[in-house]
Amino acid sequence: MTGTEKHNRQLRVVIIGAGMSGILAAIKLRQSGYQHVAIYEKAGRIGGTWRDNSYPGLSCDVPAHAYTYSFAPNAEWSRHMAPGPEIQAYFEHMVKQHDLASCIHFNKEVTACEWLGDAWRLGTRDCGFEEADVVIAAAGVLHHPKYPQLQGLQKFEGDCFHSARWDHGAALDGKRIGVIGNGSTGAQLISALAGRAAKLTHFQRTAQWILPVENPAFTEAQKQALRDDPELLKQAQASESYLAIVDHFTRAVIDANSPELAHLQAAVEENLERSITDPVLREKLRPQYRAACKRLIVSPDYYQAIQHPQVALVNDGIECVEFCGIRTRDGVLHELDVLVLATGFHADRFVRDMNVVGSNGRVLNEVWAERSFAYLAMSVPGFPNFFMLNGPSGPVGNFSLIDVAEAQWNYIAQLLEPLREGRYQQISVGQTAMDDYEVSRIEAARNTVWASGCSSWYLDAQGIPATWPWSYAHFREVMTTPDFAHFDCA
Ligand code: NAP
Repeated sequence: MTGTEKHNRQLRVVIIGAGMSGILAAIKLRQSGYQHVAIYEKAGRIGGTWRDNSYPGLSCDVPAHAYTYSFAPNAEWSRHMAPGPEIQAYFEHMVKQHDLASCIHFNKEVTACEWLGDAWRLGTRDCGFEEADVVIAAAGVLHHPKYPQLQGLQKFEGDCFHSARWDHGAALDGKRIGVIGNGSTGAQLISALAGRAAKLTHFQRTAQWILPVENPAFTEAQKQALRDDPELLKQAQASESYLAIVDHFTRAVIDANSPELAHLQAAVEENLERSITDPVLREKLRPQYRAACKRLIVSPDYYQAIQHPQVALVNDGIECVEFCGIRTRDGVLHELDVLVLATGFHADRFVRDMNVVGSNGRVLNEVWAERSFAYLAMSVPGFPNFFMLNGPSGPVGNFSLIDVAEAQWNYIAQLLEPLREGRYQQISVGQTAMDDYEVSRIEAARNTVWASGCSSWYLDAQGIPATWPWSYAHFREVMTTPDFAHFDCA
């Protein structure tokens, strides 16, 4: 039987979101001969998180060669951890190279998906409609900015914006800048703005552990060697040292009592002791929880930046925002020209902004009333032919989300095969498999470092870590082949 004869149906696939994982899905579908592939993108540009985030100092804290599609290595990365604009340019290049422009519908926000019994009906904000046999939701994880509930915030008269909505019209040089939040974003911002601002004030609510990882530039000779030798480039993508770090890191985070976590703890403590000379500042910066309980911050120079003469760390707690700055609980008014809200994202939103209605009128937002969940982060019972990339409970730690999405795509592609062959019309995970998965996932999640006593975006409303609680090796193994016995196929 030839490939074409085997495929009795030309499936219509709609991908929601033209970020890293949506572009990946489109490339893979096209390469496998799917002819009806459309990406619906609510913005006017591709790129997802790399489009939305454009703040000074934005960089990926995963090695650049590991944060690259496996099928599209890139010898041109400028640094070991690539700056954000370079990553955005890489995805734009991918869209061109794979000729995807014609299948991306920009400014088309999908607001509703309804299962009609044999297909999905998608509604867009501009009142358009589309039908699809399969929906791939690639809508991102850290996508919806979280604004702090601070008294008087709207009264501030200077420039004020969220880190993921950077106002490039706001002047920074020589200004008094305040940054609220010290997650990965806040830390990168302080490193980038120290020395530019007349006064830079970092408002810290909870201290963070910081792992010092240098980020040297690739020399021209190193890049040339990668250009000349595809084998070397391939090795750079899945370098043994990176895989060993991932393995070490996952062992640490999934078992709060592991020697690997103790090792990580020692490394971050040593960084704090060694880097901060003032004992008062050092104690302000010392977290009262385990390393990696919050997402670990990777920074070669945050501690250096926070000790810059024009930078101040304020941890007195914010009382309110006034028209000219922030008043802290000790009564001090910190006058500011610019206020940046590096206050994170609503990490449990996923596809909640759409009204997703599955079989028998099941509404996803109601199914997810207690928590967002999906079997292997992809499929929810009663929502046939609806698959998520980087959905709830995926491995979103300090890993390459590209690698995660590729592994998930490998799995989803296999689920689509029987639909394509016409053997089934619909597939979604069965309720028993879903329940068993969630029970064991939650049990395992309780042993992870994320549940060891801190607050973070990993935790769901019940305080249970909402991420993959097993090893990364196990994730990759599970993604190899679907067990169709766990799926309702009709
Ligand atoms: P985040 O980790 O959620 O950090 C938000 C920060 O804002 C925290 O310090 C939080 O304090 C603070 N905050 C929130 N509301 C506040 C309030 N009302 N008053 C005072 N402080 C408040 O957000 P993020 O830094 O944007 O990072 C989110 C994730 O994006 C990262 O964990 C990472 O996965 C990803 N990211 C990755 C990179 C990279 O290099 N690859 C770069 C940036 C972001 P508390 O800790 O007290 O809650």
